[in-house]
Amino acid sequence: MTLLALEGLTASYGPVPALFGVDLSLGEGEVLALMGRNGMGKTTTVKAICRMIPSQGGLRFDGQDLHRRASHQAARLGIGLVPEGRRCFADLTVAENLMAAARRGPWTMERVQALFPRLGERSAQRAATLSGGEQQMLAIGRALMTNPRLLILDEATEGLAPIVRQEIWTAIAELKRETGLAILLIDKSLRELTAVADRAVILARGRTVWSGEMRTLPPEISHRYVGV
Ligand code: ATP
Repeated sequence: MTLLALEGLTASYGPVPALFGVDLSLGEGEVLALMGRNGMGKTTTVKAICRMIPSQGGLRFDGQDLHRRASHQAARLGIGLVPEGRRCFADLTVAENLMAAARRGPWTMERVQALFPRLGERSAQRAATLSGGEQQMLAIGRALMTNPRLLILDEATEGLAPIVRQEIWTAIAELKRETGLAILLIDKSLRELTAVADRAVILARGRTVWSGEMRTLPPEISHRYVGV
């Protein structure tokens, strides 16, 4: 079943248009890569989905019109966002950060700590003192604690050391394998995206220019629109 559907979505920052027609659909349990060069509208699309900026056109989640919902309501419907820049509460401990996000469901503190053992080891540590990779794990853990039906990861491996990036990719693969979670992924690593994503949507200048199964993505399209 289709969980998230965008049709001809447009959005702007004040008077400046940024999205001109984004089409995207994501089924239950599916992993979708949202790709495109810098500044092509990936984060803006995520902000529109999460109701952080106004948008127009088709925007439905689980059959409901998201345009009728505020951002906290979108979260309550089951959209869990790990935003660019891995935001956590710096002065709270790891455990407090996780508890503050908790909503009923299969994801508990224990389960998050099983996915990211480092968070268990550091549960009493203040988030501000975590490494970048640990903060990213905490940001993902916080999103999981909301027990979402859709997890959105915006540049989750950006700026991390290769070994930590690998830990994050392993966790994403585990989420795909062991849960029915739908995942929308934005990342610069085509190789890693290819390994985990079922389908891809490519944006250029605020529009969908290609969508299809990840394994059918023609090299000339990724070269032209993703830059690899
Ligand atoms: P990146 O990979 O660099 O994060 P992106 O594909 O996520 O790129 P967006 O951040 O969605 O791109 O940006 C799309 C367009 O909207 C760009 O032209 C950008 O300059 C513009 N834009 C983004 N954020 C704002 C903002 N807060 N105010 C005004 N314009 C913005």
